[in-house]
Amino acid sequence: MTIHQPHGPDTDRPLAATVVGRRTLLKGAVVAAAVPAAVLGTAGPSAAALTKYATIGTGVDQVYTRIRDLSGSQYVHTRNYSFTYNPSFHDLCNAWANTYGSVLRWNTAGATEVDWIGCIGVYANKSGSHGTGDAFDLTYVRHTNGVYMDANYSHTSGAGIAHNRRYAGVAWATRKHLAEVGIVKSDPTHGNHIHAGRYKNGSSSLLLGKGTWDTLLVQYACNAFTGAGIAFDGAWGNQTQGAYVEMMRRLGIPATGASSPFSSVTALQNMAHALAARGSVASALPA
Ligand SMILES: [Zn+2]
Repeated sequence: MTIHQPHGPDTDRPLAATVVGRRTLLKGAVVAAAVPAAVLGTAGPSAAALTKYATIGTGVDQVYTRIRDLSGSQYVHTRNYSFTYNPSFHDLCNAWANTYGSVLRWNTAGATEVDWIGCIGVYANKSGSHGTGDAFDLTYVRHTNGVYMDANYSHTSGAGIAHNRRYAGVAWATRKHLAEVGIVKSDPTHGNHIHAGRYKNGSSSLLLGKGTWDTLLVQYACNAFTGAGIAFDGAWGNQTQGAYVEMMRRLGIPATGASSPFSSVTALQNMAHALAARGSVASALPA
């Protein structure tokens, strides 16, 4: 596997200029006012004024984090690295981060929260969602008790089922709010992190689909949460359909029809939320 290098101007910027000390900032909305807005000249579908943000969710640190390499070493930046977003995409990222944080808090009776979230890029000077600041390349989620999800490790069988479920849970937390979620192996350029973007084939519809990326998400979740043991190949065939129906039965959500995730955004979000909740504490689904 090749090591995907961080991309975009964020990673070329002198680090000291964008680091904001954790203790110098209040949590929450104050943060946005503390960082300068920048209008970039890049044309894009939204052509929004891009803005730098130092946090994600309700004051959670976002940390520039290089991909873990095969020896397990990893470069993690000092806290509060500023990334450049389309502001409305930042709102959506706040939503997925808050979804994951809330289910983690709920499932641990308030004992554990998200400590920080690792990223290797949002805006990048290229075409596609990154070019308009509408995609987030997610590398890591750290809990306050030291438990973590590392996107280039936690998906592997060697990492163990708890890592596998956390990885799936994080991915589904992003999918609750974003149309385009590519987990590891979804395509060659996103071969070792979770890509979470606002648009899928130009659409922001959250409905579940049978394209490669959503199929991989479903296949991975079925294997991690129900032990389905199906192929992780991105092709929605009979095995995937059967495993999906079984997983949905155990979630108590209709698998097909007008109130299924293929037809109802509410149903999609209910499924994603339930999987994020289970994944945050690495638990299986009820029988
Ligand atoms: Zn990406």
